[in-house]
Amino acid sequence: MRFLSCDISVTNFMNPIPFFKPEVDEETIAAVAEVIRSGWLTTGPKSAEFEARFAEYVGAKYAVFVNSCTAALHLCLASIDLKPGDEVITTTYTFAATAEVIEYFDAKPVLVDIREDTMNIDESQIEERITDKTRAIIPVHFAGQPCEMDTIMAIAKRYGLYVFEDAAHCTPAYYKGKPIGSIGDATCFSFYANKCITTGEGGMITTDNEELAEKCRILRLHGLSKDASSRYESSGSWKYDIVARGYKYNPTDIAAVIGLGQLKRADEFWEERKRVVRAYSQSIPRAKFQVMKEPANCESSWHLFPARLNKGSERERDLLILKMKRCGLSVSVHFIPLHMHTFYAVKYGFVAVDFPCAADSYSRMISLPIYPGLPDQTVKFICQALV
Ligand SMILES: *Cc1c(COP(=O)(O)O)cnc(C)c1O
Repeated sequence: MRFLSCDISVTNFMNPIPFFKPEVDEETIAAVAEVIRSGWLTTGPKSAEFEARFAEYVGAKYAVFVNSCTAALHLCLASIDLKPGDEVITTTYTFAATAEVIEYFDAKPVLVDIREDTMNIDESQIEERITDKTRAIIPVHFAGQPCEMDTIMAIAKRYGLYVFEDAAHCTPAYYKGKPIGSIGDATCFSFYANKCITTGEGGMITTDNEELAEKCRILRLHGLSKDASSRYESSGSWKYDIVARGYKYNPTDIAAVIGLGQLKRADEFWEERKRVVRAYSQSIPRAKFQVMKEPANCESSWHLFPARLNKGSERERDLLILKMKRCGLSVSVHFIPLHMHTFYAVKYGFVAVDFPCAADSYSRMISLPIYPGLPDQTVKFICQALV
């Protein structure tokens, strides 16, 4: 099994290279301690400050901080009162969260295949999936590469659909100079531990639509009226009124101060990820791998560094991952397409080839480590292990 041996004489089994490493500075840790000492732990002034800073960062009028991106997506759909039987168009090439939130309503996720180049939803296949039940489109900016938003927004406008972007990978990303977060009806970000910036767990909705922002704000805390949600403030009243069937999706101020510390450094982190991308571009064995190019006029967050084998079978890919692991290198696969998972395959009768481009990308895909502070020499080592 020569293919499985790790030829590189570096014994880093004891010290594996992680897939991702969050970068949280001492200043942020001190700010967390301060918030804890302040006695105000749940949603409060720090959450409001993080919302204001984040809205500014992505050029949106409003930002609503919640405890995950999944919650953010769910609230967007709740805000348009999605009904059982409604349809929402999205990509099969995404994480569980994107489609499960549609299922929460007994609505139907209508999956679309991807483009070969960016692995984003193939916008040319969206229109043919629209029916009189379609309510919204959820494009996912894969790895932080923006989808073809002009086309998607134009289709949505023509058919009266909402566009809620899954921008879990996008702090920051730019489409034709516009920050992701300022384009669709609403945009959902993730601050999960391995995302571009983190709050441990957390998410954000950004929008220019005041009504949508207000609905999401109410729904994130038990559907309590706006006045009620400030009832713990000194000026607030003890009275509250439930005005909608809400959820428990509000964030903590502990998470908010982590977010404030992270957001301050988001551009620095981004520069670091771009450096890592340049290091990969120099060392990756090109005869063997196809790497992503940024679409014209776009800037990726480079949340992920996806590499696809030029040719070969899924089994070869799996063996390569095993080999990397033996070399002490953590890699991943983004994504196993939704339609190839048991739940969706059984419920909707999908087979792999229903979305051929996604199935093909998946079979050749390997995501390589990328994070601020990943040294160039380590990238070189990773690339040697890939040969
Ligand atoms: C991480 C991720 C999510 C979910 O984010 P959470 O904050 O963990 O809920 C949604 N969509 C995509 C594409 C993701 O990668």
